[in-house]
Formats: sequence, C-alpha cells, structure tokens
Amino acid sequence: MDKPLPVATPTSRPFWDGLRDGVVRIQRCKACEGWVFYPRSHCNHCLSRDLEWVDVTGKGTLHTFTLARVPTAPFFADELPQRLAVVELDEGVRLTSTLVGVEPGAIEIGMRLRPVFETAGDGETTLLRYEPDA
Ligand SMILES: [Zn+2]
Repeated sequence: MDKPLPVATPTSRPFWDGLRDGVVRIQRCKACEGWVFYPRSHCNHCLSRDLEWVDVTGKGTLHTFTLARVPTAPFFADELPQRLAVVELDEGVRLTSTLVGVEPGAIEIGMRLRPVFETAGDGETTLLRYEPDA
C-alpha cells in the first residue's frame, strides 16, 4: 500500500527542496529575527512578510513522543509501534516527525536528536526523520 506523501506548496517548497539536498532549512523573520516553522507567508511573531530561508543543523531535543501500537492509518501498519515525535530544534521551533534507529524502551524526553533524510517510496520525496544523536 502506497503511503501518503507530503505535497509541496509554493510556500513550503524550499523546506522540501532542502530535505532533498540533505539540509534542514527553516524560515527566519528579518524584521524580528524570530524562527518560523511550519513554512508560512508571514512571521507568526510579528506578522512581517519579510522572511528568509536559513540552513540549520536540524539537531534538537525530543519534546514529547507517542508510541502508536495501533496504526494511525492503514498505510502505517508496517511501522508498528509508530514512534511519533515532536522535536524541538535548537532554534526553538517544534516539528512533528518519526523516530528511527531507536528501540521504544530507549526513547526519553529531552534526548538529543539528529535528522535522518529518508527517501520516500516515490523515490523523489525526502522525509525528515530523527534518530538519537549519541
Ligand atoms: Zn517577525
């Protein structure tokens, strides 16, 4: 069963293109210097539309997680338990991802994480996963 994949929009395309190039790229506001994620047309801090894309390390800490022992959708039945995570990047923004390369019992809130760039089933889309940064 083909898994659903993200569809880039004009606003989010730089983020997805960055992942394809092995880079986590997020927006920063040139007016207030606030970091912005998810991709938007304006700053969520000050509403300025003067945003720039910045390459970051993609590293962060595990803010919270869920082990889904029942698949969140039939597409993910082969990933159980799903290791669903909210990662706080070092820039302070949070994103939803999936943990890889870690046993469920070894997952701890606050653990350091680094990005994993995973080519999706279509061979074109790159997904952002996270693994322990030991
Ligand atoms: Zn701003």
